[in-house]
Amino acid sequence: MRVVVIGAGLGGLSAAAHLSKAGHEVTVVERDAIPGGRAGMIREQGFSLDNGPTVLTMPNLLADAFAAAGADMADHVTILPVDPMYRAVYHDGSTLMVRHGRDAMAEEIRSFANADEAAAFERFCDWLAKLYRVEMEHFIDVNFDSVLDLVKPWRAGLELLRLGGFGKLDKKVASFFSDPRLQQIFSFQSMYAGLAPYEALALYAVITYMDSVEGVYVPVGGMHRMASGLAEAVVESGVTIRYESPATRILRSGSGAVSGVELGGDERLAADAVVCNVDLPVAYRTLVGGVEAPRVARRGKYSPSCLLWVAGVRGTPPPEATHHNIHFGADWKGSFEALISDGSRMPDPSILVTLHSLDDASLAPDGCSSIYVLEPTPNLDGRIDWSAERERIAADLRERVAGLGYPTDVVVERVYDPLDWEAMGMERGTPFALAHTFRQTGPFRPNNVDDRVPGLVFTGSSTLPGVGVPMVLISGKLAAARVDRYARDTAIVRW
Ligand SMILES: Cc1cc2nc3c(=O)[nH]c(=O)nc-3n(C[C@H](O)[C@H](O)[C@H](O)COP(=O)(O)OP(=O)(O)OC[C@H]3O[C@@H](n4cnc5c(N)ncnc54)[C@H](O)[C@@H]3O)c2cc1C
Repeated sequence: MRVVVIGAGLGGLSAAAHLSKAGHEVTVVERDAIPGGRAGMIREQGFSLDNGPTVLTMPNLLADAFAAAGADMADHVTILPVDPMYRAVYHDGSTLMVRHGRDAMAEEIRSFANADEAAAFERFCDWLAKLYRVEMEHFIDVNFDSVLDLVKPWRAGLELLRLGGFGKLDKKVASFFSDPRLQQIFSFQSMYAGLAPYEALALYAVITYMDSVEGVYVPVGGMHRMASGLAEAVVESGVTIRYESPATRILRSGSGAVSGVELGGDERLAADAVVCNVDLPVAYRTLVGGVEAPRVARRGKYSPSCLLWVAGVRGTPPPEATHHNIHFGADWKGSFEALISDGSRMPDPSILVTLHSLDDASLAPDGCSSIYVLEPTPNLDGRIDWSAERERIAADLRERVAGLGYPTDVVVERVYDPLDWEAMGMERGTPFALAHTFRQTGPFRPNNVDDRVPGLVFTGSSTLPGVGVPMVLISGKLAAARVDRYARDTAIVRW
């Protein structure tokens, strides 16, 4: 089949890799001049600054995408473990190094807290591993045709129930650890799914598994290298990528099935199937025409957003700093209530400071550093008027970072607020898509196919299975499987 993939984000590239493996004729059209989408990079004055994901987990899924393109990941990108994975700095001044590897982490917990908590960590890891095994095979790495598909693997469902997956995440984590600081570090990952630990189901601890047990990694050359490396590999496998080629419409035949893609308002590219990596609600509004997005995409609850400050600065970080530094604010629960329920800024924001150049000197000139600071904020459904507040909030964030001892003598900088994310095509100004509430996950999330538009398949964080690098890589594989099925079905009809 001739397949056009709209968007060279990680979801689109993964789809292209799996489609090329299946023998389709694939063209990727990308609006920007570089691949990666949200996993982008700014190169200026000797700095290479990542402005997207910083925490890479499950690199085996990235390797799978390379393998689908017939390539060995190691020939394109070197992935190294990050250790410590995080430095957690608590409001009371205490510091926990989250170590790579189970034994090292148990040892760290023993000295940070006590032997009971270290033993609890071992039990916690065993529980997480069981949870992951059940969820990955039956509920994550699968396409859903109906809600019934959720109950078909009933044994797996029962196992999830037995593991306590349907209780609340904060309570489940507290059943292992009594130290509130450990409860925090093993439940904050629900934020990656757009939820507070007290509202997330325990089954979302699978995200904690991906980072705390499987480990955090970093590509040499910056996070963006995942995307540029994968783009190289798919091109070598025979895929064509056209940059600076924005899709302006998905073309359809009289039957309603897709027939191609309009580029830049005039050029037409014929296609038998279209894989769309554009944020799903935005794609329905701007590209599909005459077909409304599924209700959950229009009315659903979107994840919080973030204020991101990335900079190339003179000077080097303080000696205690590590690659990823989480500075927890006071009032853990109150912070989530402000962010999620009230739609306001956290009173004492928790922030993530990532220092890419600490482990990779190629990313900043001599004597300089790259600094990346992310503060979770409400999305555009919240109460902050970003056009009025942006400068004040960004200045406040810089001041906080300087107060923590990081270098802030700026050479190059960018600030991204929810209005910027919206301008880049992200619904409600959040890069983290629909939140992973139970009713917005699996068969309840906007599906990657739509009966009303045969031949149109979605990939990326706004469809199945969800948000984050590991999930969008899987979504590309699932999208390719949908195209294969469509190819088989239409071949039968033609025959
Ligand atoms: C600041 C930030 C921090 C994050 N942190 C993490 C993290 O630490 N770990 C993690 O796992 N995930 C993280 N994420 C989330 C992760 O980056 C995303 O879930 C993932 O990269 C999304 O990939 P995607 O393929 O769905 O979408 P995108 O990357 O948005 O790809 C969509 C592509 O479509 C292109 N496009 C859009 N419209 C058109 C058009 N009309 N024509 C042609 N092309 C078009 C875009 O240019 C883009 O290249 C973070 C994201 C951000 C922004």
